[in-house]
Order: sequence, then C-alpha cells, then structure tokens
Amino acid sequence: MPISSINPATGEVLKTFEALNRRELEEKLSRAADVFRAHRRTTFHDRAAMMNRAAEILESEKKSFARTMTLEMGKPINAAIQEAEKCAWVCRYYAENAERHLIDEPVATNATRSFVRFQPLGVVLAVMPWNFPFWQVFRFAAPALMAGNTGLLKHASNVPQCALAIEEIFSRAGFPEGAFQTLLVGSDTVQELLEDPRVAAVTLTGSEPAGRSVAGIAGQQIKKTVLELGGSDPFIVMPSADLEAAVSTAVKARTINNGQSCIAAKRFIVHGEIYDRFESEFVAAMKGLRVGNPVVESTDVGPLATKQILDDLDEQVKVSVAAGAKILTGGRPIEFTDELAGGNFYEPTVLADIPKDSPAYRDELFGPVASMFRVTSFNEAIELANATTFGLGSSAWTNDGPERERFIDELEAGSVFINGMVASDPRLPFGGVKHSGYGRELSYFGIREFVNVKTVWIK
Ligand code: NAP
Repeated sequence: MPISSINPATGEVLKTFEALNRRELEEKLSRAADVFRAHRRTTFHDRAAMMNRAAEILESEKKSFARTMTLEMGKPINAAIQEAEKCAWVCRYYAENAERHLIDEPVATNATRSFVRFQPLGVVLAVMPWNFPFWQVFRFAAPALMAGNTGLLKHASNVPQCALAIEEIFSRAGFPEGAFQTLLVGSDTVQELLEDPRVAAVTLTGSEPAGRSVAGIAGQQIKKTVLELGGSDPFIVMPSADLEAAVSTAVKARTINNGQSCIAAKRFIVHGEIYDRFESEFVAAMKGLRVGNPVVESTDVGPLATKQILDDLDEQVKVSVAAGAKILTGGRPIEFTDELAGGNFYEPTVLADIPKDSPAYRDELFGPVASMFRVTSFNEAIELANATTFGLGSSAWTNDGPERERFIDELEAGSVFINGMVASDPRLPFGGVKHSGYGRELSYFGIREFVNVKTVWIK
C-alpha cells in the first residue's frame, strides 16, 4: 500500500511512497543489528562529534526542514522553525551530557569494588506520531544513539518526508549507515518487528490504543517499552493568579500546534471568583486567532493534520453539545472557498457547561477546542483535575504559597507547572502516569531507559 504525503491545508497529494518490501525490511533489520556491534564500541567523544554535527545541520537548514514539516502536517511555519531549533538543542544536550549521565556509579558494599555500569541494549524501535514530526524523533534518537544503541524509526504514515529527512540528517552527520534508519511501513508491520529477536526494545509516542497494542506485544516478548501516550491536561486558575498572563498562556497552551499536542492544556478549571472575567477574556482571545495557511507567517492556527482527525473532533464536539455542553465560540469546521478549500480547518472553540458523560469531559480533544469548568473551592479544582484516566502534564496558576504546595503534591500528572505552560525541556524528565504511559524521556532519566543497568561486584 502506498504511503502518502498530503498537504493538510489544501488536500494536495505531495508525494507517495511504496512501503518497504520483505527483502528491504530484512536488510535494514540486519544492518541495524550489525552496526550496533560496532557503534556500541565507539567513544562518547566520537558520538558527540556526530551528534553536534547533526545539530549544525538542523540549525543551518532549519527553514527547509520547517517547510517539510508544515507542508506535510500543517503546523505554523514559525513553530516548525522553532521545532528544528529545539531538535538541535537536544542533540547538543546529549552530546555534552551523555557520558556524565552514563558514567560508572561506584557503590560501597562488602566487595573490594562494586559499581553500576550502563550499557546499550541494542536495536531500539521507535514508533512515532506526526504532531511534532521532528522533535518526537530527536528526543528519542539523541539519547539512544549517544548511549550506543541503534534506532529504527517507524514514523506516522502521514509524515514520510519528515521521516526520510531525519534519517538523512544522521547519515550526513557521520553516523554509520544503519545506526538510524527509517522504515516506511504501516502500523501492521510493528508486531513482526517486535517479534524479531534483533529488536531489543521499543518506544511509542502516540494514542492510548496504539500504546496498549505495542505494550501487549512487547510484553509477550519480554521487551522493554517506554510509552508516551495521550493527555487531557488541566489548566487551573485560582483567584490569586495573574489573570492577564493566565489568559494569554491559556490561549497558547490550547492552540499550540493547531491544538494537536499531547501536553496542550485541554481542560480549563477556573475558580468562581474570577471565572466570568477569565471566560470573557479567553473567549475573546480565541475568537481573535487567525486561522489559515500555515506557511503564512501571521497564521496562528493551521489545519488539522488529517481529514480523519477533523471528522473525529467535529463528532466529539457535536456529541458533547447534544449532551448539553454550550458553545461559547466556534464549534464547526471552516470551509474556505479559495486554495484552502480542501484543507482540514476547525474553528478555535470554547465549550462550557460540559456534562460528565460527554467526550469534552472525558476524552482527549485533539484540536483547538477548550473545555471550561467553574469550581468553587481548591478541593473541587483538584478533584476535577484528577478526574481523568490521563496524567501527562498539568498547569496551575496561583500566587498563594500553601495552594502551590498542594498542587505540586496532589495533581496526578507526570509534571506540574506553576504559573507557566507545560513544555518539554532536554534538561527535565518528560512523561506521564496513569493512561498517559510510563517511562521518561529527556534528562538523565531518558538516556537510562534503554540501557542495561549492570551490577558489577569484585571480591
Ligand atoms: P497514533 O494513531 O497512535 O499513531 C502514533 C504512531 O503509532 C504512528 O506511527 C502509527 O502508525 C502507530 N500506530 C497506530 N496504531 C498502532 C498499532 N495498533 N500498533 C502499532 N503502531 C500503531 O497517534 P496519533 O493520532 O498519530 O497521535 C496523537 C496521539 O499521540 C494523541 O493521543 C497524543 O496525545 C499522543 N501524543 C503523546 C505524546 C507524549 O509525549 N505523551 C506526544 C505526542 C502525541 P500509522 O500512522 O501508520 O498508523
């Protein structure tokens, strides 16, 4: 079956690719395994030189990579440029820190000498999503390659050009052919890959159903997994908060990447004392966003990445409204009549009075749709924030010290950001709890996921 690259702003088919055949797949697998044996023996110094070169390529050609991302999945062009820059950052971070993160750790015991050594696991399969088509891959690949593993990328089927561009960056940076390879295959090939003894471990960033499936297969094979899945992050605003900053951050946090971010703020939980003001300013700001062609620099919100995502989001809103939710702004797909007529555009939307059993309360809305909730106390805010099966990020706005401590302590999430927007940073661990997944990426936690933590004891 061909894999297609389609511009989500226009519907134009940009390019199609044939999926790898059996022989090609076999060649890539055996190359990944062969190269691992040599790559694991290279020094941190040599790996860092290649990783720094990858950073230079990313930075010097960021505009061209950004265009590939925007044309293929619709993110606003400036955000795509920033994504390429952030990838350069994570490459440099691990080039500089990998050795320190993986140095032998002495432990005093009854032995003459005992310590922990961190050794690479082998070929790691990365199943990745389209929404941050470079960043998701680099935040896996930089630590994995620096630790001495080799990588196989099964990217989302709608971003084949991004997938090939990333493979080329590592190759041009000097990594041996086979250290990082893109596999143009559909998700139906993942099981076979996981069952192959040459694949040692898997990381998946994507939806909960995909995570369940991959973890189930990997479980049967007793292979290490890291799962970065969906989220329905709360954004809580208390009376002591700086309201102006909270509103402008709320708009950005909900609409970043056209609303398609796992750590986008999705549920806005606002204390009654300030609710009315927050709601009117938030709705006005959402209404003021410019929706349009993402290659135009002034566009705030571009199209959703695929027609299916648009249809799913539209359905979630319709069902929520039928159940009793109120639309404060938006609530419909946008039908342009110009060259964007074939695009997957949706109005920036705010919903309120959301009933408990509706999708806007329960599920992840992957698009520019905000769900608003009014609460009357701190306890109610926490209870509502935690009333989800997800637990990825959380953002709480308050200038009250004890309240801040309770948010940090009681929010069930992989991260808590106080008076700021949830964002990933190479220096800090990233990941979730509950159905948002397990394991961590980034910082020293990330580089230690795909290593053998070997105990050494010498009499
Ligand atoms: P998706 O449908 O799960 O796809 C993600 C990747 O998994 C793609 O490469 C896809 O391949 C593959 N895949 C899908 N079903 C699979 C299966 N049963 N077995 C093996 N592989 C499978 O997710 P998406 O719609 O692209 O991405 C959106 C989701 O990702 C959201 O829920 C979002 O919150 C989450 N996400 C999480 C993070 C995080 O860090 N926690 C970051 C970004 C996104 P095909 O494209 O070939 O189907």
